[in-house]
Amino acid sequence: MSGVEVQNITKRFGRALALDDVTVSFPDGGFFGLLGPSGSGKTTLLRTIAGFHYPEAGRIRIGDRPVEQVPVEQRDIGMMFQNYALFPNMSVADNVGFGLRVRRVPAAEERRRIAETLDLVQLGGLADRRPAQLSGGQRQRVALARAIVTNPKVLLLDEPLSALDKSLRVDMQIELKRIQRDIGITTIFVTHDQEEALTLSDRIGILRAGRIVQVGPPREVYDRPVDAFAAGFLGEANWIPDSCLAGLDLPASPQGHRFAVRPEALAIGTAPDLARNALRGRLVQRVFAGAMATCLIEVEGSPWKLVARDRDIPDLPGAGEVWLSWAARDTIAVPA
Ligand code: ATP
Repeated sequence: MSGVEVQNITKRFGRALALDDVTVSFPDGGFFGLLGPSGSGKTTLLRTIAGFHYPEAGRIRIGDRPVEQVPVEQRDIGMMFQNYALFPNMSVADNVGFGLRVRRVPAAEERRRIAETLDLVQLGGLADRRPAQLSGGQRQRVALARAIVTNPKVLLLDEPLSALDKSLRVDMQIELKRIQRDIGITTIFVTHDQEEALTLSDRIGILRAGRIVQVGPPREVYDRPVDAFAAGFLGEANWIPDSCLAGLDLPASPQGHRFAVRPEALAIGTAPDLARNALRGRLVQRVFAGAMATCLIEVEGSPWKLVARDRDIPDLPGAGEVWLSWAARDTIAVPA
């Protein structure tokens, strides 16, 4: 077992409380995405697990081993950070083998591990190149190979793809997921890209101001956010104005709750769909963006957004009255 257990961790920097009594489990072999706004404590949590920060309180286990007192290099973790630095004067193979040499692994085994790992990240043919002779995506693979070559129990990734452009980034996401599955390594991944977290993770944790707000599978966190912050942070939420609640089929009592609908749960038309929840609004703008289109609608003074395939949106009056409808089960309820 090499999951990671974090229990009641508190970390302060001077007067700033970066982690406030954080408890969270990272399951063995899972891909866990840590999300949260800037300054919410994501990097601090990762670096505390790695051993770069010592928390004031709390416990950390890697597998069944308590590691609070264990230095970084003995925690058996691999790391890849946004500003990963490869050694420019070393070949790809030497960069990848660095951690093996530090651990005094015998030369024959070092060569075998380097070759295996380079194959895994599909850089088999590039062992003798220097980092300057590689593309951005290839360099990223070298950094990943270097992080996993020692067979660590846990892989910690802090925004590893954020320096890449969009299309390369999507390729690398698929690649990262494949490699993680192949070797079955427990992975904790920090990002502030919601879509990236949803794509890669089998569990997501949302942090806000040093506290864990919600943990769960991506679908569950997206469909059943625990509060208004989680609802708005992981995706967009159209909040239903209180004055519109009468007559709607709601999942909870209007006393003590707020309600929202995701942009893609909405349909738009020129008449209400009486079999579903429906609200009247004023079409402000329709934006065509290739496969998908976005409509901005004003509902009782609130700005709403609908996202749908362009061909699923009927012809609408240029600006004016429209009806929005959605299935009652798509209404999100959170505590007011
Ligand atoms: P970002 O998405 O911007 O990287 P984050 O969620 O990773 O943010 P952290 O870097 O963990 O957030 O920072 C959490 C809080 O701790 C912030 O208020 C930050 O200013 C503070 N902090 C982090 N590192 C230090 C440090 N070395 N010294 C002092 N304060 C720090």
